[in-house]
Formats: sequence, C-alpha cells, structure tokens
Amino acid sequence: MSKYWSNSIKSVETYVPGEQPKGGNFIKLNTNENPYPPSPAVAEAIRCAADERLRRYPDPSCDSFRETLAGYYKLDKNQIFAGNGSDEILAFAWKAFFEPGKPIMFADVTYSFYPVYCKINSIDFETVPLNDDFTMPVEPFFGSRGGVVIANPNAPTGSCMELEDIERIIKNNPENVVLIDEAYIDFGGKSALELIERHENLLVVQTLSKARSLAGLRVGFAMGDKDLITGLEKARDSFNSYTLDTLALIGAAAAFEDEEYFLGTRNSIIRTRGEFTDELRKLGFDVVESKANFVFASKKDIPALKIFKKLRENGILVRHFDKPRISNYLRITIGTPEQMKETLQVLKKLTQNHIDE
Ligand SMILES: *Cc1c(COP(=O)(O)O)cnc(C)c1O
Repeated sequence: MSKYWSNSIKSVETYVPGEQPKGGNFIKLNTNENPYPPSPAVAEAIRCAADERLRRYPDPSCDSFRETLAGYYKLDKNQIFAGNGSDEILAFAWKAFFEPGKPIMFADVTYSFYPVYCKINSIDFETVPLNDDFTMPVEPFFGSRGGVVIANPNAPTGSCMELEDIERIIKNNPENVVLIDEAYIDFGGKSALELIERHENLLVVQTLSKARSLAGLRVGFAMGDKDLITGLEKARDSFNSYTLDTLALIGAAAAFEDEEYFLGTRNSIIRTRGEFTDELRKLGFDVVESKANFVFASKKDIPALKIFKKLRENGILVRHFDKPRISNYLRITIGTPEQMKETLQVLKKLTQNHIDE
C-alpha cells in the first residue's frame, strides 16, 4: 500500500487470472485457452504484415477488421466495435453505459471481472442468485435500475440461456443496456446477435481468445446499435485511440477468413466435451451441462481442493474458485482428447483410492 495511491486503487480487489506457469510441462486446463493452434492463415497474415508498415500508427477505427466482421455476421460496420480483448471492451462498456448510483445486475456466480469493473468505476451492483442447478434465472433481471450483464454461456458454470429468455430480459429493461458477454458462444450456444436489429439496448460482446485460439493476440469485438458503438468509441478515445495494433488487426481478420479450420477445431472441442462429461459422470461427478469449452464439476465426497492438488501433482492445471456456492467445484477446460484421457486417468485413480481409504 502506498500513500500515493488513489482511494479507488487502494480499495479495489483486482481480478486474478488463472496461473500461466513459466516452466514445466503442464497440461493446462485452467484458463479456457484453446488446445489447438490458431489457423495457419493467421500467422501467415501477420508475417506478411510485419514490415515497414509498422512505422505507422494502426488504423484507430479498425475499419478493415470491422468490415470483415460485418461481412461474416451480416451487419453494418457501424454496428461493430473492436477492442484489445473483450475484457477491454467490458471496461469501456462500464464507462460508457453504467452510472454511479444506478446499480447494475449480474449473477452471483459469474465472470469475476464484473465486480472489479464496478469497484474501480464506483458502480453499485446487485447479484442475482443462480438457480440451484446453476442455470440463469430470468424474471429477477427485469426492471434493473442501471443495466444487466450476463455471460452466456455463463462462466464458470458453462450453462447457457435460451434466446427467448434473453429477449424477455432485454424487453424488460428498456431504459438500460443489457450486455451479453458471449466469450464461449461458438461452442454450441445461440448468439443474441440476431436480436440487435430489434433492440437498441442490447450489446453483444465476443472474443477471439477462446473458439478462435487467439488469447495471445488480444482481440475482442462488440455488436449492437450504432449509438451504443459510438458510446464505446467515445470511451476508448478518452483513454487510448490505438488499443489494437496493426498485426493484431490483420491476424484477427485472417481468423475469420478460414471458416473450415474454425469449424473443425470447434467441433473437436464440442465432441471431446461430450465424451469427457460422460466419463466424469461415470466416475460419480456432478457435471453442469456445458455449452462452453470447459466443464464445471464436483464430487460430493471428495473436496475439490484435494482433487485440484492431486491433478496439479500430476502436472494438470485446472481452476478452483474459493467462493460461496462453488468452492467444491472445479472448472476444467476441454483440451485435446489425449489431455482429457490423462486427466481422467488421474481422476479414476483418485476416486478409487478414496473408496479404499
Ligand atoms: C475469457 C473471458 C473474457 C475475456 O476474454 P478476452 O477477450 O481474452 O479479454 C470475457 N468474458 C468471459 C466470460 C470470459 O470467460
């Protein structure tokens, strides 16, 4: 603690990302990274662009990348905002759309960055308890005083909402922005994208970090009514006009031009998720139905922390959140079939020994 810190920095409890080990040969199932490399077209595009052009500032409006997205999602370019990862877009959205004194709503169990953005921006929030099976309730989000934020599929549970329910929440918050964080939508959920023409208060946020294997490139985007997009641009241009660099913009566009690769890797993860879920259930785990690239699982008779440590001893990293309601759960990212097989072997041994003890 320094006496020079502002009060907001003194009091904020910052987001803690999953461990990124420097050495060691870990199977990394702790940060929902994609186990497959990005499309080879991405590296090729970046290589070709790494030349004298880097002398110049990047295009602050990210036009070329937004045009690619507009073509892909059948939108107008001015309905799209590009940012340095979706985390940055969320930070801009808090600045652009939420107000001190008007509490926003999100689930009690959801992406743990949301309360951090609230704290640093002095925005109050109310949490809505998830249902007992960790699905998202609907009516409690009606008539929020300051806005609604929903991760869909939700993190760290993986459960996904029906579009009709999302639309009911949007309709019942006409005075406020409803932000749907779709970091995991490509793994089997239905995007709220198709609702943006009908609802000017809907902002859909997506990322290239998960389904497109580009967590290291830091690219996300938001889609919504053009006035919402202008709000995000104002927030950005009050902070840093060039949050996306030239190479990131070019690599990101290339990722959307290789649909076959995207579908192939995405479908592999969905398939592996199904197989891994079945196997976990056979071992006696409770597994939340997931539409994401991770599963949220618990074994009633073995503490999650014990399983976490056992996996770590065996070189497998997963995520444990020491928080109310979920402290006996582990969030396990879906890796390759081989990685999940190794994970299951450790879990099998552990559950067997537990019975013998
Ligand atoms: C991973 C994740 C993000 C952040 O993605 P980046 O684009 O890498 O910043 C945002 N929201 C949720 C729910 C996530 O899980």
